Formats: sequence, C-alpha cells, structure tokens
Amino acid sequence: MIRIVAYLIVAAAIMVGVVWLADRPGDVTIVWQGWRVEMGVGVLAAVVASTAILAALLYRFWRALVAAPRRLVAWRRDRRQRLGYEALSSGLVAVAAGDPQGARRQARRADAMLGHPPLTLLLSAQAAQLTGDEDTAQRHFQAMLERPETEFLGVRGLLSRAMRDHDMAQALVLARRAMHLRPKTPWVLTTLLDLQTRAGDWTGASDTLDRAIAAKVLPPGPAQRQRAAAAIELSRQALADGRLDDARRTAKKAYRTDPEHPAVASWFAARLVDTDRRRRAAKLIEQEWARRPHPELLASYRRARTPFNALAWVKDVERLAAQAPAHPGSSRALGEASLEAGLWGEARKHLTAAIAAAGNAPPATLCRKMAQVEEADTGNQPLAHRWLELAAEGNPDPAWICESCGAPHAAWQATCRRCGAFDRLEWRVPDRVRPTLLGGDDAPMALPGAADLQPPPAAPSPS
Ligand SMILES: [Zn+2]
Repeated sequence: MIRIVAYLIVAAAIMVGVVWLADRPGDVTIVWQGWRVEMGVGVLAAVVASTAILAALLYRFWRALVAAPRRLVAWRRDRRQRLGYEALSSGLVAVAAGDPQGARRQARRADAMLGHPPLTLLLSAQAAQLTGDEDTAQRHFQAMLERPETEFLGVRGLLSRAMRDHDMAQALVLARRAMHLRPKTPWVLTTLLDLQTRAGDWTGASDTLDRAIAAKVLPPGPAQRQRAAAAIELSRQALADGRLDDARRTAKKAYRTDPEHPAVASWFAARLVDTDRRRRAAKLIEQEWARRPHPELLASYRRARTPFNALAWVKDVERLAAQAPAHPGSSRALGEASLEAGLWGEARKHLTAAIAAAGNAPPATLCRKMAQVEEADTGNQPLAHRWLELAAEGNPDPAWICESCGAPHAAWQATCRRCGAFDRLEWRVPDRVRPTLLGGDDAPMALPGAADLQPPPAAPSPS
C-alpha cells in the first residue's frame, strides 16, 4: 500500500517536472572538439534520465554475474542440508515405527548429506539398536562421547547398555559422568542414587540425595527419610570400623534428619549405649517407647541396664511399659520379663493380654511362651499342649519386610537383601497364607485357658 502511494507520488512528481519543462521551452548547445550539438531542454532531460537508468541496469547485471558462482554453491549447500534433514526426520520416524532397515538407510543418507552431525550419530545408534546390533550401537555412542554437544546422549546410551548387562561398576562410572554433565536432570539423579545405594556408596548416596532435594526431584518427605536411611548406613560403616563415636554422631544426625524413620530411634539408642551414654539412651528409649514400642528399643534398654538382674529388669520394663500401657508391645515386654524372672502369674496375665490384642492372629512365639508358663506354673500338660498347637498355627513375629518384594530381614538395612530396593523395609508381620483357624478368620479366637486357669487346672475346652 505504502509502496503504491510512493509510486504515485514519484510519477506525479515526474509529470509535474515534464509539464514544467514543456511550459518553459529553451535550447541547449554543446560545443566540444569541433562538434556542435543543439537540442531542446526537454530532450536533454530525457537523454540524461535514459543514460542513468541504463547505467543502473548494467551495474545490477554485472553484480549478478559476479555473485553467480557463490550463490550456486550456497544453493547446493542449502539443498543438501534440506535433503539431509529430511532423511533425518524420516529416519527418526522409521525408528519410532520400529523399521530398522528404513532407519539405517535414512541414517546413511543423512550422514552423506550432512556429514557426521551429532543427530546422525544418534540415529545410527538407534537404528543399530533396533536390529539388535548392540556393538555397533555402542561404537556410535562411544563416538558421541567425543563431542560436547552429544556427550550426554552418548553417556545415556552406554549407561542403558551397562545396566542391561548388569555391569553395575561401569554403570556407576557413567552415571557419575552424566551427573557431572547435567546435575539437575531427574533420571540422572535417580539412576545414580539407585546405583550408589546398591553399591553401598553411602557418602555418594547422601550427596546425591542432597542434590535431588535441591533440584526438587524427590518430594521432601520421602527424601528426608532416605537421607536418614543413608546416614544409618554411614553410621553402620563407622561401627564396623570400630569408630564408635563417629557411629554415634552419624546416628544422631540420622535421628535428627527424620525421627519418624522406623529404624532410626533404636539404632541411635544402641549407639548411645555403645559409647556408654546410658542415661541418655534410657531417656531416648522411654520417650520413643511412648510413641512406637519396638523390640529393638527394648534390647538397647536392657543393654543400658547392666549388670543384669531378672527381678530388677521386671521393674525397668514396668517403667518403660508405663510410657505406653495400652500397647500390646508393652504387655509382651512385661510378659517376657516376668517369665524370665519366674513370676508366672504376672507372665500369664501380660502374655494373655498381648495375645488377645493380636486378635485373630496369635503370635506363635507368645503361644509358646504361654505353654512354658503353664508347664512351669501349673504343670497343666494338656493346656500347655493346646498352646503349642496354637503356636503351630500362629503368626510369625513381626520382622523387617521389604515392601517391594516381601523378603523378611532379621535386622533393618537400607537396601533389600533380595531385590536391592532402597529404604523399603517396614516393621510388620510377614504375609503368609494362614490356615483357617478355629472356624474362619472372622470368628473370634477362643484362647485356651480362659476357663481353665482356675486351679485345679482342667483340660482345655474343646474348640
Ligand atoms: Zn526387596
């Protein structure tokens, strides 16, 4: 639009000029070297204008002639690039469509057109992977390591291969290199953490966890719990090296990081006892027992109370149980301590309470202990026998169970012994297929002795 207006203005200006000249006629005479030319002013103006236009056209033609070879080269380069990228796109489509031959052909074309650009290497590697030619793929990934723009992709390709081959040492080296290149990429952080925990590199795992938290790759709650788990393992390493103070300090750090971690309180308490901080340990255990009674806390409490005396121990357990009087764990602890001290009546009372609290799933260990009580106290063999029968059908004691694969563990550890999952152990009764006990799962369990405890002992009621 603007251009049209500009043309109109220029045309109008020329017209005005021509009219102006026509209105004012005059002659021009040129005398040069014996030549004499006479003409009107209008003719002179026309001659000057034509000469200028001709000169401009000649100049442009000359410019185009000079630039022609260079433009030809540029055109050919552009064409090759366009075809190269077309081949690349077709190759990527072929990879996505699972067509290895097509992918390889397009990779070769792209390679010829583009001359080894980074993406061609990736396409060639993927095409090789599609045909199952892992060695060629590996070679391409290796070549990608040489270029800064493809190094990360090369590392990723080689890392996947190492993981598939279960070459964990090599995978760890590559994952560390990937972390160095892209420290905030989520898959890098999670893969590195997984490899470090499996390799028992707890210093590295702690560092990776800190990075993952900073990069918001892990949600804060679970990440804190995992940091505590890694710290417990660091503490365990210190303990194994005989560095008891280091072990206690790291355990304290773990406890402060996440006091809710299922294993951290008893671990810290045990390390306090190791380093002769018995009063601190007892205080911690009492405080934790109120929240979450756990047999490992009880074991540390007992270690903190040396020299051991069975009757004094009953008093100690009473003080501990007072922190959580309604909890079956307290009843169990009291029952076991009374049994050890030979206080049969107390033992029977507390063990029965603990068994009753377990509802329809009597813990086998406690049933056996009840049999022991009956035998020692009243000598009621049939009743003791009935308890042993119940024990055979009873539930196993709680243990550290991997929530990934279900494997039970006698002691807590950060990685599952069977599947290697990190920080998945929980304290609970192992799953088992329980035979229908005493008329089905929903029926209330008939505990032996409820009617038989009054002396003289009678045979257990048939059930
Ligand atoms: Zn597992």
